[in-house]
Amino acid sequence: MAHARRPLIAGNWKMHKTVAQTRAFIAELLAAALPEEIDVVIAPPFTALEAAHDALGESPVFLGAQTMHEGAQGPFTGEISPVMLIELGVTYVILGHSERRLQFGESDASINNKVRSAIAHGITPVVAVGETEAEHAAGVARVRVVSQTVAAFAGVTAADAGRCVVAYEPIWAIGTGLVDSPEGANAVIGEIRACVAGLENARLLYGGSMKGENAAALMAQPNIDGGLVGGASLTVPGFLAIVEAARARANA
Ligand code: PEP
Repeated sequence: MAHARRPLIAGNWKMHKTVAQTRAFIAELLAAALPEEIDVVIAPPFTALEAAHDALGESPVFLGAQTMHEGAQGPFTGEISPVMLIELGVTYVILGHSERRLQFGESDASINNKVRSAIAHGITPVVAVGETEAEHAAGVARVRVVSQTVAAFAGVTAADAGRCVVAYEPIWAIGTGLVDSPEGANAVIGEIRACVAGLENARLLYGGSMKGENAAALMAQPNIDGGLVGGASLTVPGFLAIVEAARARANA
């Protein structure tokens, strides 16, 4: 498997865990033998990033943020810039999560600005795309995610796109316990891979109720290079079960 498609498991903690809880999680995680064949990312809340960076030390676990502003600095009350994230050791940033799109009004255009800014600052974007339950029922999932993906990568070179990560997260599967079928997710992710030049080399993830029990079947699919994990990333055993499933993909 080419280096560019090295399996990746990213934990999106959302608005969970204090500084103390973050330190405890990382101590427990680093006590486990993490596989060398895959990349592991945790994305704590902004308030815990510094403590996470400190606790991760020289470990191979990467630090991610859950969103960012595209500007380096300025009069944007409440926002966090890529420069601030880099100072805290952040190397990945989740952009366009459906919760950001639906609850905080993030548009395709603003996500594109953030993607281009992250790339310019050397932070790897993990771009989340996905259809609603109604769009899924109407059979327009592929059209929807292709349109979100094309918009997110407007103005990005193929070489840069190839170094990015895209997570297909059907909204009806997020936090619901409902999981897309491995074949269905693989087909949609195949369309994502083909719709922007460079994404054929990128790591494309599935997200939406991924757990230890379903992760291996999802990652056995040719287009699925790993997972963006919400709920199951909040406990070390839950997260490690998915990390172990990714090891099996790396060794396949
Ligand atoms: C997510 O929100 O990115 C996610 C995949 O959540 P969950 O794993 O809880 O469905």
